Amino acid sequence: MNSAYIERRRMEEVLHRHGFRFQKKYGQNFLVDPGIPEAIVEAAGVGEDDTVLEIGPGMGTMTVPLAKRAKKVIAVEIDDHLIPVLEEELERYNNVEIIRNDIMKMSLDDIFPKDTEKGAKRIVANLPYYITTPILMKLLESGMDYTSITVMVQREVAERMTASPGTKSYGALTLAVSYYTNPRIDFTIEPDSFFPPPKVDSTVITLTKHANPPVEVDDEKLLFDLIRASFNQRRKTLVNGISHGMNLGLSKDEISEILVSLGHSPTVRGEALSLEQFAEIAQRLAAYHKLGANTFDPDIIR
Ligand code: SAM
Repeated sequence: MNSAYIERRRMEEVLHRHGFRFQKKYGQNFLVDPGIPEAIVEAAGVGEDDTVLEIGPGMGTMTVPLAKRAKKVIAVEIDDHLIPVLEEELERYNNVEIIRNDIMKMSLDDIFPKDTEKGAKRIVANLPYYITTPILMKLLESGMDYTSITVMVQREVAERMTASPGTKSYGALTLAVSYYTNPRIDFTIEPDSFFPPPKVDSTVITLTKHANPPVEVDDEKLLFDLIRASFNQRRKTLVNGISHGMNLGLSKDEISEILVSLGHSPTVRGEALSLEQFAEIAQRLAAYHKLGANTFDPDIIR
């Protein structure tokens, strides 16, 4: 009998005793191979002064190794049926705070206590697959103060986070990840390490926050509005994406002129552009927008 089998039987017994039923709608696939939570915590680089936010602790499989290594763990779980299970599994650890909430509905600004200055602020999670991208976008764009994010995601999502321009996986998530962080793929996990097993392979990835973004823009929101508008309708040209997706008061001809003035084809698509090129276009659009629709000059900030 291997350790994953023994752990799975133990988990089944605990969940059964609590009358717990897995809820598909919450993306509940729990890790049963005890080596994997340890490896994730190791990859996250959690140290004894660190405070960790864990999203979706489930029945605490990863919370235990986190609590053993970190100063404090804040574990946010949406499913109220798991709270008594978590309390039982974690009763030996007095450095864990369990919060029953939906991470998407929480303000993340003050989630890390003020006395965390000494250690790093890390986010570690085996993310529910149904909501991975919205959670990642929220973490990245929240402006919250954190050092790194280590998450287990579907392998395809990890590929999107690290994709190159012009590839199928490249998109708004890739650009948000590289604007805010430096991504590193840690390792891949097969479905039989989970209970119940998901239909996909999973990848652990660590995103280390940049001290300063690699490109400078005056208006970060406009940059991300531009990126979203470009990828909302992937097959459209960038001119059409901007014209339909952003409310800048520019005609298609004017948008086209701005793109051509920056050396792009008038039929360029967003999927071909790097973060630096998006930033350059955003700067030009921001400068135009500031001056108002009557002063159109595509070379305005040259
Ligand atoms: N961390 C556990 C593990 O590795 O075994 C469980 C991971 S399971 C893939 C995802 C967990 O996230 C589940 O416990 C689920 O109930 C929880 N969850 C789903 N949506 C959530 C949300 N919006 N906010 C907080 N937790 C959520």
